[in-house]
Amino acid sequence: MNTCIECGSRIVGRTDKKFCNGSCRNAYHNERNREELNSVRKTNRILGRNRKILVELKSEGIQRVHRKVLQALGFSFKHFTAFEEFANYGLCPVIYDEVYHVQEGGMVLFFNAAESFKQSA
Ligand SMILES: [Zn+2]
Repeated sequence: MNTCIECGSRIVGRTDKKFCNGSCRNAYHNERNREELNSVRKTNRILGRNRKILVELKSEGIQRVHRKVLQALGFSFKHFTAFEEFANYGLCPVIYDEVYHVQEGGMVLFFNAAESFKQSA
């Protein structure tokens, strides 16, 4: 005898059925989709905050701070969108269009990817 994985009711009929009815199947899949969406949103929020921190510092004329300063501002070094190769710095983490490079001693240099290409061209 099987029980519905959504509501726990007993399932009558085919032994391979997982749900007692269509509404339990929908409820189950909606919940899983919501969890997936929440995890995507959470990551997007962290990426957005990372990018904003770099952009705001640059708008104040700051292009280099210690990693502890970024961490204190809520920056996550675990979240970036890509790695890209830059002539002067090698492989750097990129957050959308913002690039950062962790240097010796924990200083972090950051710049806009497009501006960097303009400079090197
Ligand atoms: Zn059910």
